[in-house]
Amino acid sequence: MQSYDVVIIGCGVAGMATATRLQAAGKSTLILEAHGQPGGCAGFFSKKGFSFDVGATTLVDFEQGGIGGELLNAIGLKMPESEPLDYRLWLPGKSIQLYRDKNKWHQERIAKLGNTPAHARFWALMDKLARVFWQASSKGVKLPIQNIGDALNAVNSIGISNILLGRFLNCTVIDILKKNGLENDRELKAVLSMLVEDTVNSTLEEAP
Ligand SMILES: Cc1cc2nc3c(=O)[nH]c(=O)nc-3n(C[C@H](O)[C@H](O)[C@H](O)COP(=O)(O)OP(=O)(O)OC[C@H]3O[C@@H](n4cnc5c(N)ncnc54)[C@H](O)[C@@H]3O)c2cc1C
Repeated sequence: MQSYDVVIIGCGVAGMATATRLQAAGKSTLILEAHGQPGGCAGFFSKKGFSFDVGATTLVDFEQGGIGGELLNAIGLKMPESEPLDYRLWLPGKSIQLYRDKNKWHQERIAKLGNTPAHARFWALMDKLARVFWQASSKGVKLPIQNIGDALNAVNSIGISNILLGRFLNCTVIDILKKNGLENDRELKAVLSMLVEDTVNSTLEEAP
């Protein structure tokens, strides 16, 4: 019977990433998967000649400096060539382009979704939260915090200067809109609702 250095349970993205990292480090791996094919929530199934995504449809952050990019570097694979993906949202009477280019997106949202001081405060906070917590996630912050080691790691990942942002961890998106008096802004809410639905299958009232 063949033996392996490491056995991994589950052939979703996490299991496959773990296996490829271990293999790049010279370890042999065996992945055990309960389902008929690999992929988990990022897999697909076929029916009557059509393929359907189980869940994930978009590779995010597979670029230099991104989490996916870091994985590819670690296992010695080249970055895939791909076109940047821009969303276009259609609202009654207007369309809004969700540019990946930050400067273009800043201009678009001001031009199409409002340019009041409340909008500026809202976007400034959202940008800061996104930047700080995205960076923290790539530094290995673990949630929920279960012991003093996790707490120290979280402080280290978020950075002392950003620690006060922790007070927003229990806020939902609608809470932040309310704080800025924007809870009745229908167009802004429509755009945010679509993004929250599309990314975390949730609502503004529930999404953190
Ligand atoms: C509707 C939807 C849309 C999404 N869209 C995106 C997107 O566009 N972009 C994006 O980046 N992410 C997206 N995600 C998130 C992404 O799909 C998941 O975060 C990711 O696929 C999770 O991977 P995982 O390996 O952690 O877990 P899973 O994909 O859940 O993999 C776990 C695997 O383990 C297997 N398993 C479990 N228990 C056992 C056992 N006891 N023995 C053997 N095998 C076992 C399961 O069958 C499964 O294959 C989406 C998720 C959903 C649900």
